[in-house]
Amino acid sequence: MATVTDGDTAISPAAVIVPGERLPRPIDTVPVVADLPQVIVLGLLHLLAAAAVVPWCFTWTGLVAAVAGHFLFGMCGITIGYHRLLTHRGFACPVWFERLLAVLGICTLQGSPARWVAIHRVHHRESDEQPDPHSPLAGFFWGHTGWLLVRHRNLDRTGSYERYVRDLLRDRFYLEMERHDMWFFVYLAHAVALVAIGAAIGWWTGGAAEAVRLAVSMAVWGVALRTVVVLHGTWAVNSLSHTWGYRNYQTTDNSRNNWLVALLAHGEGWHNNHHADQRAAAHGHRWWELDMSWWVIRSLEAVGLVSDVVRPRAWNPARRPVTGPGAIPDAFDGDE
Ligand SMILES: [Zn+2]
Ligand SMILES: [Zn+2]
Repeated sequence: MATVTDGDTAISPAAVIVPGERLPRPIDTVPVVADLPQVIVLGLLHLLAAAAVVPWCFTWTGLVAAVAGHFLFGMCGITIGYHRLLTHRGFACPVWFERLLAVLGICTLQGSPARWVAIHRVHHRESDEQPDPHSPLAGFFWGHTGWLLVRHRNLDRTGSYERYVRDLLRDRFYLEMERHDMWFFVYLAHAVALVAIGAAIGWWTGGAAEAVRLAVSMAVWGVALRTVVVLHGTWAVNSLSHTWGYRNYQTTDNSRNNWLVALLAHGEGWHNNHHADQRAAAHGHRWWELDMSWWVIRSLEAVGLVSDVVRPRAWNPARRPVTGPGAIPDAFDGDE
C-alpha cells in the first residue's frame, strides 16, 4: 500500500520512470491503424466548436447551456458517474440513479460506460507501464489524444474488454448500450434535443430568424464546445496529471496532483491521491485540495440519495474493505 508523506510536496520520482527513455506504446496498438470513425467524429466536433469564435454564434442561451452542461454531463456524468461510481464503486446508490449518471456520462462522447470503465481499470492495473492505454510517458500527445485515434486490438470490441467489466455487463442496460453502438445514438439524441430546445426558445422570443440563430448557437456552444472542453478535461487527467504536479503518495506510477486539472475536471486533478487510494470517493485529501465532485457526492449523501461512501484512508486509517452488492474489492484488477 502506498504511504503518505508528512506534508512533503516535493516531486518524488516514481519507480518505473527511466530518465530520457520513452515508454513503448501498448503492443496492441502496433502496427498503428487509424481509427477513422473516431478521427472523423472528433475532427468535426473540434471544427464545430471552433465556430464559437464567430460572434453571430454567441448567445447567452448557448453560454448558459455550455456552462450548465459542463457541470451536468462532465462532473455528474463522467467524474461522479463513470469514474467514482461505475469504475471504482466509491459509493452506492439506487439503480435508477446510477443509470441516470451513466446516461449523463454518455452525453460527453467518451464512449460507452462499459468501454470507458474497462479502459480505466486497465490504466490503474498497468499505470505508466507499456500496457497502459494512455500513459504520457509514451509521448505527451499520445497520452492526451493520440491513443484515441488509433485502433487498440484489446479494447476495441465488447468481446475483447468484457473480462474487465463483468460486474457492469451483468446489467442489461449496459449491455444494450454496447449493442450496435447504442450509446452513440444516445449522444446524438441529446444533441438534437438541445438544438431543438434552442430553436424553440428562439422561435418564442424572436421568430424564425432567431430560431435559426439559437439552434446554431446551441449546437456550437451547448453541444460542440462543451463536449470538447469536457473531453480535454478528461484527457488532461491522463496527460497533465501523469506529467506535472506534486505527489502526496509514493505510488509506483507517475501520477501527480495538478491544481489546473483539478479545476478543469471537477477535482479529478488530485490524481496521485486517487492512484494511492482508488476506492475513495474523495480525491482531494487535504483541506485545500478543492474537489467539486466530492462536494456533490457529500451533498447527495446528506439527502440520502447515495450511501456507503468510501472516505480516504488518509482521513480514516482504520477503514475496512467495503463489501456488499456491487462492491468490488480494493485490489480489483479486472481479472475476476
Ligand atoms: Zn492515472
Ligand atoms: Zn480511477
